[in-house]
Amino acid sequence: MERIRGQGQSGCRTGRAAIAPGAKLGHFGRLMRPDILNPYFSALTELSGIGPKLAKPFNRLLGRPEGARTLDLLFHLPSSTTDRRIRPTIAEAVPGETVTLEVVVDQHRATPRGARSPHRVLVHDESGDLTLVFFKAEGGYVERLLPVGETRWLSGRIELYDGMRQMVHPERVLDAAGFARLPPVEPVYPLVEGLGQGHVRRALSAAVGLAAPLPEWQAPGRVAGQPTFLAALRAVHNPAEPSDATPLGPAWRRLAYDELLAGQLALAMVRASTVRGTGRPSRGDGRLTGRLRAALPFSLTAAQEGALAAITADLGSDSRMLRLLQGDVGSGKTVVALLAATVVVEAGRQAALMAPTEILARQHLKTIAPLAAAAGLRVGLLTGREKGRAREQILAALADGTLDLVIGTHALFQEGVAFRDLALAIVDEQHRFGVHQRLALAAKGEAVDVLVMTATPIPRTLVLTYFGDMDSSELREKPAGRTPIDTRAVPSERIGDVVTRLGAALEEGRRAYWICPLVEESETSDLAAAEARFEDLRHFFGERVGLVHGKMKGAEKDAAMAAFAAGETRLLVATTVVEVGVDVPEASIMVIEHAERFGLAQLHQLRGRVGRGSIASTCLLLYRAPLGEVARLRLQALRESEDGFFLAEQDLKLRGEGDVLGTRQSGFPGFRLARPELHGALLEEARAEATAILADDPGLTGPRGPALRALLHLFERDVAVKLLGAG
Ligand code: ADP
Ligand code: MG
Repeated sequence: MERIRGQGQSGCRTGRAAIAPGAKLGHFGRLMRPDILNPYFSALTELSGIGPKLAKPFNRLLGRPEGARTLDLLFHLPSSTTDRRIRPTIAEAVPGETVTLEVVVDQHRATPRGARSPHRVLVHDESGDLTLVFFKAEGGYVERLLPVGETRWLSGRIELYDGMRQMVHPERVLDAAGFARLPPVEPVYPLVEGLGQGHVRRALSAAVGLAAPLPEWQAPGRVAGQPTFLAALRAVHNPAEPSDATPLGPAWRRLAYDELLAGQLALAMVRASTVRGTGRPSRGDGRLTGRLRAALPFSLTAAQEGALAAITADLGSDSRMLRLLQGDVGSGKTVVALLAATVVVEAGRQAALMAPTEILARQHLKTIAPLAAAAGLRVGLLTGREKGRAREQILAALADGTLDLVIGTHALFQEGVAFRDLALAIVDEQHRFGVHQRLALAAKGEAVDVLVMTATPIPRTLVLTYFGDMDSSELREKPAGRTPIDTRAVPSERIGDVVTRLGAALEEGRRAYWICPLVEESETSDLAAAEARFEDLRHFFGERVGLVHGKMKGAEKDAAMAAFAAGETRLLVATTVVEVGVDVPEASIMVIEHAERFGLAQLHQLRGRVGRGSIASTCLLLYRAPLGEVARLRLQALRESEDGFFLAEQDLKLRGEGDVLGTRQSGFPGFRLARPELHGALLEEARAEATAILADDPGLTGPRGPALRALLHLFERDVAVKLLGAG
């Protein structure tokens, strides 16, 4: 157990002291978005050239199914650049590098009608020959693009194929006039199906053209020599040099810093409002916890005792608790949480445990109910599925204090849910909830203590990014009696052997999970589909195979899980819905299909579903060869270690390397510009600055106030800020 300290720690304390007593933060609740930001929040379809048809793929690209705004596009940063000043001859071009070539067109070898072979074009320069390859070339398009005998400028990547130089689908083909108009350095953007580089570049040049200058929110001392926010946006999207569009270049760093500052400012305000005023100490007398401990079939590990002691001390103190309980899957967080809840019940108050899914909430209830009964705790369940009379009864019991502990989902912080005296909010698997949800639950009582449990240990930088300055307890030690999991990577061609061995294991009475990444067979994706796989495996193993996936109704899911827990089904085909928290100790085999597509943390979580009982467990990582470098390292790390804290650090490192290798798929949730693995130092600076800002001007009413408020809106941290006003 240790306190997470940043460099800004001492400053932070000052900041807190300055904010705590009666700071006027309430007016943020009514804060409207400043008009200067309107151009940033206009619908994407207002940009010239983006109609309803193009808007669809853009919404997908930008992860805004409900309709992207201009700002979403502006924050879509390049994955690389093409530098057209790199102009080798064909012979000099290094295979794999993007180059620009000046060539003369010699000959077309068109695709015969109906044939599947590509359309090839032979070109040359004074150093040698090159073949251009076009798939699905139709209607004479390639012939018009590359007339025989003419000179053309091509950008793209040269590859060696059977010892011949070729370029598949050149990125650009231009004549002399077109080439002259081209910027020397061009950004290259991540794409989705239905969009080309041209679409994204055109849309961005329109968006950058409309972006308005904003007041400077950074400290005067910091801005010297730095581009303004708008200049940085312009530079990233219209780079003069490749370094203008790389994460470590000055423009991108400026934007990343702004995003981090907004995040840290919001977190610091949340923190200030959480610790604002004094807490209400909850001190137990050991009556109920004694009974609960006696009812446990095991004794707590030293790590569990340590965490519990820290939590009990927090609960008993007169400031509010804001603590993370970090522990690997199976490290025994639930019982620690239950004991913490019991302490506040002893003090005559109530506790709530919020889980991210229905399955998990029910699972918690199942484990907790018998122990709670032994201790004399009254426990209830509240999820979206409790309706009508059942729901009313629970609500009444919470309001009059008949219930001591309620377990549930998001439903817990909805309107109409009132407690007699909520003292402790426990939030399980926090990374699925946002800061504002945590706050909304804490707002259900007076000076509620908050305990956040994460099953994926989070490296310190990320803790700071997402949670700000929180106390942390770690369960590094696993409960005794766990057997290590034999983890192996198996190429997908050997799936037949895997099925055969699985059959033998099922005969012996063992239970297994089979994880597939997608639910329905989709044309655009070759991911193994759970339903199809379920049919396959049923064909081999009959009624012993069950299925659970994210699109099932709650009751169906529960039934499938219950059948597996009871041993009626022995092989459970599942999408990643089993990822979080499900506990079937008898399960001892985990097969993960397309393991190369999962992140390390997610693989570790999935594997954690087995190895919970006394039987030696196996985890098979089926992968499709050839493996990329990062995927290979990921699977290797997983084979070598079961320590979630170690794997979390590796994950962060590999994401960083993935970036360097250009294989990065997506950023961290909640951040679009900043990359915690690359911008860690900026994060520390942003933390310190956020602290200093609030110490100086807690209500953001000073001269920098309007600019800082615009910053919070721009990065959409106003949600947390609004809740501040409400809570
Ligand atoms: P987590 O929520 O951290 O993933 P759980 O709380 O679900 O882990 O605990 C996993 C399993 O370990 C449960 O079956 C629980 O009963 C058991 N367990 C918890 N603490 C201990 C302990 N000290 N000794 C033995 N078993 C334990
Ligand atoms: Mg758990």
